Amino acid sequence: MPELPDVEIFRQVMERHALNRLVRTVDVRAPEMLDGISKRSFEFALQGRTFVAARRWGKNLLLDTDQGGTLRAHFGMSGAIEVRGTGDKDGTYDRVVFGFADGGRLCYTSTRKLGTIGFVGRAEEAIVRLGLGPDALGISRKEFSDLVSSSAASIKGLLMDQERIAGIGNIYSDEILFQARIHPATRAADLDQAVRDDLWRTMRQVLQTAIRKQAVPQRMPLSYLLPHRDTGAGCPRCGGEVKTTAVAGRNAHFCPRCQPAPT
Ligand SMILES: [Zn+2]
Repeated sequence: MPELPDVEIFRQVMERHALNRLVRTVDVRAPEMLDGISKRSFEFALQGRTFVAARRWGKNLLLDTDQGGTLRAHFGMSGAIEVRGTGDKDGTYDRVVFGFADGGRLCYTSTRKLGTIGFVGRAEEAIVRLGLGPDALGISRKEFSDLVSSSAASIKGLLMDQERIAGIGNIYSDEILFQARIHPATRAADLDQAVRDDLWRTMRQVLQTAIRKQAVPQRMPLSYLLPHRDTGAGCPRCGGEVKTTAVAGRNAHFCPRCQPAPT
């Protein structure tokens, strides 16, 4: 599932290849993926516009248009956004296709149609409506510390709660907690300040490293859990067995030796 680093890579690709190109056609092939707007209004809103800035909030991509208004895309379990050239074929899972006047296309893809795409007057409205917390790379050390110390949830559950902090999902919460040596089921409020500060730094480091590595698990440092994220695999730190356990309704991967259970 696309998490913050994946969506940041999409954003960078958009910035390089989708800005300042006139959108001539808008083809909505899966209207059920539109969020709060009809097919007709969506097409009308985007036709004849250009994207002028690419931003991101948590797992949401935001493309501002030249006449005001922002395209917002969320990628669900397996979506992506791609720029294609004139000669490139359509994909089976292209759900919304923007045709540029110069012949290229911007394609919003999704295999299982679990994402949402919409158009809003102001991106900030959408962020409020979706109830998103601060972006995981935008939250300050103090804000993060206050958030953690006041939460009765498990630390993994809190990191994945988009209304508290936006951008982190199952995979990166596991990596952050592995690097910080914290058991995923630890109650957030039980972490002391030094641990909370360290966790904030670790969270930033993991997300920034993943972005630098193009969010490809196999390119991550060998000291990361991500390339070894299989039950029974060896922990890259101690060689012990990586285990799984259910936390906050998800399957957490962790090393019981490096991340001892809370007492
Ligand atoms: Zn270990």
